[in-house]
Amino acid sequence: MFKLEKLVRPNIAALKPYSSAREDFTGEANIFLDANENPFGHLNRYPDPYQRKLKQRLAQLKGVSAENIFLGNGSDEIIDLLFRIFCRPGHDKALTFSPTYGMYQVSADINNVEIVKLALDEKFDLNQELVEKAMGIENLKLIFICSPNNPTGNALSRKYTAELLSRFNGIVVVDEAYADFNVQESWRKRIAHFPNLLVIQTLSKAWGLAGARIGMAFASAEMLAYFNKTKPPYNISQPNQQAALEALENTEEFERRVDLIRQEKVKMEKALSSLSLVNKVFPSEANFILVQVDDAPGLYQELVRKGIVVRNRHSLVNNCLRITIGSPAENETLLNALAK
Ligand SMILES: *Cc1c(COP(=O)(O)O)cnc(C)c1O
Repeated sequence: MFKLEKLVRPNIAALKPYSSAREDFTGEANIFLDANENPFGHLNRYPDPYQRKLKQRLAQLKGVSAENIFLGNGSDEIIDLLFRIFCRPGHDKALTFSPTYGMYQVSADINNVEIVKLALDEKFDLNQELVEKAMGIENLKLIFICSPNNPTGNALSRKYTAELLSRFNGIVVVDEAYADFNVQESWRKRIAHFPNLLVIQTLSKAWGLAGARIGMAFASAEMLAYFNKTKPPYNISQPNQQAALEALENTEEFERRVDLIRQEKVKMEKALSSLSLVNKVFPSEANFILVQVDDAPGLYQELVRKGIVVRNRHSLVNNCLRITIGSPAENETLLNALAK
């Protein structure tokens, strides 16, 4: 049986959160002398600790209720909070499927939590054997599923993700940083069905707001209550909340850009496949492509000399570079450099 209270670290379950001035008083007033703010200036007031306006807008856009949204200072803060809320340091474990996003390991290391790594199959996907192995790990609290996966680009099996969700009595995190580039339905639509599901998305990729540091978690209100009491009170700055609200107004521009990036990706997949120095182009549902070459570190250096930086992922996948889809002009420049 899945019992949320039992999964939460005892110190977090017992935590009495900091009560900020902005929280203590929520009515209407003209004079605020409660938070030791400066009466002068432009950004002189503390921001809304719960980012209510922004969540309202996101609720509309994402088709979920605002109480099912938590915002972090980037998804990376959400990942860190997952370890802090659910994993007793030096005792509990988390599971990742490799190769995958590096922050799960770093965040686990910071929190002194052991990560068990299981290798994805030859198509970089889940299978029955991996599900069975996962179910046999002791003191396992968190399973991270990154889909579409970074750095491979493919979306992971919905069947085996669903099986993990229904069989595992811990938290299943589905990291959908690249969901907006993927045509498949988001797992956030299933949070009412799976009480142990937490879905991560971000404004850093498709929304073009990496500089504003806004990550989203979708989960039950009960689970998110632990996030709200554990986070730093003012974790999203006022300018960042404002920047996000403004960007989220223009959904037409968003769709136009996502479409363009998708078209460019198809173009790049074809062009890269036709190059003799490229051995393999992996299928991608994201805004990047993983390509295998003969000598990834060498080619990486050569591109750097030409002023082009891609990501050398040789340490994760043999002789692979991860190439982000840029503007049409940037992509063209890269192709020209590779053709020489
Ligand atoms: C880029 C990325 C994120 C986003 O992190 P932010 O902190 O929101 O910028 C999260 N997960 C994965 C897998 C990513 O590739």
